Amino acid sequence: MSLLPKSPPVKPGDKYDVIIVGLGPAGYSAALYSARYVLKTLVIGETPGGQLTEAGELDDYLGLISTQAMDAIKLFNRHVEKYGVHVLIDHVEHFKKEGDQFVVKTKRKGEYFADAIIVAIGVKRRKLGVPGEAEFTGRGVSYCAICDAALFKNKRVVVVGGGDSAVEGAEILSRYATHVYLVHRRDEFRAQPYNVMSVKGKPNVEFLLSHVVKEIKGDKVVRQVVVQNLKTGELRTLDVDGIFIEIGHEPAKDWVQNVGLASDPEGYILVDEWMRTNIPGVFAAGDCIAQLKGFRQVITAAAQGAVAAYSAYKYVVEKRTKKV
Ligand code: NAP
Repeated sequence: MSLLPKSPPVKPGDKYDVIIVGLGPAGYSAALYSARYVLKTLVIGETPGGQLTEAGELDDYLGLISTQAMDAIKLFNRHVEKYGVHVLIDHVEHFKKEGDQFVVKTKRKGEYFADAIIVAIGVKRRKLGVPGEAEFTGRGVSYCAICDAALFKNKRVVVVGGGDSAVEGAEILSRYATHVYLVHRRDEFRAQPYNVMSVKGKPNVEFLLSHVVKEIKGDKVVRQVVVQNLKTGELRTLDVDGIFIEIGHEPAKDWVQNVGLASDPEGYILVDEWMRTNIPGVFAAGDCIAQLKGFRQVITAAAQGAVAAYSAYKYVVEKRTKKV
């Protein structure tokens, strides 16, 4: 089964009741609920599944027991296909209100029109910003342990971060690599205790707590990572073949500001409990919103998507009623 949902044809200039920007769990869920409210629904995104494509096994989404993330995405596809959701693989450059409708401009496939918009654009990966990071990206520097772990069989690697992504990444890498250094800037982990427990005690995982990465060195590929002990100031050079930077994500602040959405200082979209933004007719859901910032889960994103679709439905009905 394809990772792309089958969709009725989408033509530039088409008008929809609701356009959803983003194809992660929040976007899929919003699309499902919107279509179940019998709204003509278009969802536009670049990667079906969004960040979920970088996950391994999903075992914390009610009812999906030990399910590979890719299989979960296939199930999401089947579900929105059943309701005839229109799907477009493209990047949304911006949207704006023109008259009584929104115009959504995509990068490659033209403009589309809608009465309501749901923004579910997720977040992008945070960079370390150390020398060598940009130079060796794709040549030993990776941002996705789950995607690239198998390439580091019998190699030595560094994982950076103290959240669930880093700790889960270290666990997965420990199955392939001979040695995994887990470098975290504090002594305390942000990750769920269960995930920390699953790497603690692994003979090939070495914790370097209160350490930061200072530089990534190599020739054609990564050969060394220089770390510093924040307590003693001591520098240490680790001979490794790769480094996995799993230090979280940041919102698309410029995009959010460009379309006029109110956000917090970091750029996460401000919504009320009904996922309403500062722009009437525009709703937001998932990792891009300011709510539950420290607790990003597939199930919370999906729930927010459902609420956003309900609010969009109420908005569209109210708009039609007023017109009548
Ligand atoms: P996160 O929770 O934001 O953690 C980022 C980690 O990177 C933190 O430990 C942070 O250190 C560190 N960090 C940030 N900037 C850094 C920098 N410039 N230099 C060094 N270290 C830096 O991000 P995440 O681990 O990607 O997780 C994101 C969300 O997804 C979380 O809500 C998480 O629970 C969720 N998630 C859940 C699962 C799961 O439930 N199975 C799996 C993956 C992710 P500090 O701790 O010092 O701030």
